[in-house]
Amino acid sequence: MAEASQGKYDTPRFWNEITPDSTDANLPPAAWRHEATVNKQIQVYAQLHLLQQLMDSMPVCISYIDQNRCYQYANTTYQAWFGIRPEDIYGQPIEAVIGAEAYQRAKPNVDRALAGERVVYEAVMPYTAGHRYVQGTLVPDYNIDGAVQGYFALIQDLSDRKAAEIALQRKAEREHTLGQITQKIRQTLDLQSILATATEEVQGYLRVDRTLIFQFTSDHAGEIVQSTSQPTCPIAPDLRQWQADGLRQSCHRYYGQGTVKAIPDLGAEVEDFCMNRWIELMAAKSAIVVPVLQPQPDGAGNLWGLLIIQTCATCRQWELGEAELLEQVADQLAIAVQQADLLAQVQYQARRLSETNQALEQANQRLKDLSHRDELTQIANRRYFDTVLQREWKRMGRSRLPLSLIMLDVDYFKQFNDRHGHPAGDDCLVTVAQTSLQVINRATDVLARYGGEEFAVVLPQTDLAGAVILAEAIRTSIRNLNIVNFETPTETVYVTVSLGVACQIPSRDTSLQTLIAAADEALYRAKQAGRDRTVCGE
Ligand code: GH3
Ligand code: MG
Ligand code: MG
Repeated sequence: MAEASQGKYDTPRFWNEITPDSTDANLPPAAWRHEATVNKQIQVYAQLHLLQQLMDSMPVCISYIDQNRCYQYANTTYQAWFGIRPEDIYGQPIEAVIGAEAYQRAKPNVDRALAGERVVYEAVMPYTAGHRYVQGTLVPDYNIDGAVQGYFALIQDLSDRKAAEIALQRKAEREHTLGQITQKIRQTLDLQSILATATEEVQGYLRVDRTLIFQFTSDHAGEIVQSTSQPTCPIAPDLRQWQADGLRQSCHRYYGQGTVKAIPDLGAEVEDFCMNRWIELMAAKSAIVVPVLQPQPDGAGNLWGLLIIQTCATCRQWELGEAELLEQVADQLAIAVQQADLLAQVQYQARRLSETNQALEQANQRLKDLSHRDELTQIANRRYFDTVLQREWKRMGRSRLPLSLIMLDVDYFKQFNDRHGHPAGDDCLVTVAQTSLQVINRATDVLARYGGEEFAVVLPQTDLAGAVILAEAIRTSIRNLNIVNFETPTETVYVTVSLGVACQIPSRDTSLQTLIAAADEALYRAKQAGRDRTVCGE
């Protein structure tokens, strides 16, 4: 400014033709009649001087360009922008001042202004002294005939504002990226899909060639558990795993405190950042490595894995914001990993519980079966018989249907034992039970061991005739086994059974006891009548 204002009286500028001559003040008295005119001129000069000061103090480029595209006026800001003094700019073509490339960019606007259009534009201008993001306002200047004789130009530097806008936009994008990952973590507990979202979002936002998540699987090894890479930058299959002695330890030493390693040029990197050899084999050019640390109760972090981005075509000077974003993503991943661990624990416990429950249920069922089953013959026992008989009595009572009962007893079984021995007697009882069981065909019919060599069959919804048919079927099937019981000098006696059958439609006038007594009594009569027969109760 100081330098520029030095020449403000004696250098040819836009309005310098009307600057009064310094000798005017020494005019002889004869000229004093011109005093009013002179005073007027001085006044005008003072106003113009003020105007020029005003324009020079503006932080914008103000100029006047004539129709030959040459500067007729430029304020001192031009000197700051282009390093040329305003007085040297005077008469120069635009191109000579702002540079050929910038002029080519500006030319369409210049054409429009000289065609009489008021032009406002925003553009990145490749000035020789450096790029600037500018807003230009070009206002045409008309002569008295209405023809354009030049234009006024006002060029404002918006680079800072633009940079702030871009920074703001990047910040918004970054928040979006983080938001996506956080949302995914809230939406799902599936770690793999969270890791996939994280790598895709990071890759998209940072526009890198590879984004990968490496997990330590043991103290000496780890593997890529999720990755996204450009087709031009594939990951060799044999590099998806990596092992080295004390790998986790050495990485923990480096990254355990949350260190973030940003490497602009891996070829020039001298520091050991624990995965050097691996990343070198991956033929990456630049990388950022960020730890995924699981918070521990003691405050120290447990190194779960690493979040890594790489370029493989060119080296990249990383920005602070990029490393920061990765750090935030890694924090989110640590939360996801912890969630997944907790879930796995809960699922494991739930599985264990369900297995235990199942085993318990099976044991209960077995116990129940055992408590219902006769140990020797494996058919229902007396206890179950009592339960079933009572249940069916009530059920048949409600639906007014007949309930039949067969009581059967092995004939001369004492002799069998005496003759063949007790164990053979046992076997015989098993055979009698299984043979009788095969005759019974309805699911609701129950054959039970009533006690000793005596059995009973509960037959719901069966009338007396039906029960007799079944009793006879049992009797003949046992007789047909042709098991020798004993021999007398005159005959061979086979194993047979005697059966007593009774039937009742349960009502208020009858009772379960009368049914049992009737069947029992019928059995007694069958014995009396000579055995190996069926007798019906009253
Ligand atoms: P009846 O034709 O009048 O029924 O003559 P029985 O010999 O069959 O009748 P008794 O009541 O005199 O004898 C029953 C025999 O059945 C006596 C007993 O030792 C035998 N017994 C009862 N339960 C079992 C068992 O679980 N196993 C064996 N081997 N024998 C049994
Ligand atoms: Mg008996
Ligand atoms: Mg008997």
